[in-house]
Order: sequence, then structure tokens, then C-alpha cells
Amino acid sequence: MDHWIEKGYRKYEGEHIDVYFSVDVCEHAANCVKGNPNVFDTKRKPWILADAAPADEVARVIDTCPSGALQYIRKGE
Ligand code: SF4
Repeated sequence: MDHWIEKGYRKYEGEHIDVYFSVDVCEHAANCVKGNPNVFDTKRKPWILADAAPADEVARVIDTCPSGALQYIRKGE
């Protein structure tokens, strides 16, 4: 079921959306941080807060990631 975990991604759980990230895949293009610094902040731990914006917004930003390092799974709404 947790396909991304098997691929070595880390999970950042949210209420309406789970975010997955792989540092090995990341190209550091920073689209995520520029796209929504409330959700993606590399100076914070954890650096991804899946609930810091509406799920649609989180998904929109993740769709701009050029490498595939960020993935998401929407949960039942
Ligand atoms: S947008 Fe994707 S590739 Fe760029 S820094 Fe964020 S996770 Fe890495």
C-alpha cells in the first residue's frame, strides 16, 4: 500500500493529504519552498507540514516539483 515508502521516500502525514519526499531524488530546484514556504521550509523540522495549507494547494505545489522527489496521496475528504 505505501508504495512510496518502499521506494525510500519519507512520509509527512497530514489530515487530508500525505506528502512523501526522497532526498535522493531531489534536485534542489526549490520550487517547493518558493511555491509555499508555510508547507515547505528546509530550516524547520519537520521541513514539510502537510496541513499548513489546504490539500489542493499542497498538491499544486508538489505538481511543480521537477524531479519527482515530492509525491502525495490524497485522503478521503
Ligand atoms: S521542488 Fe522537488 S526537486 Fe525541487 S527542492 Fe523541492 S523537492 Fe527538491
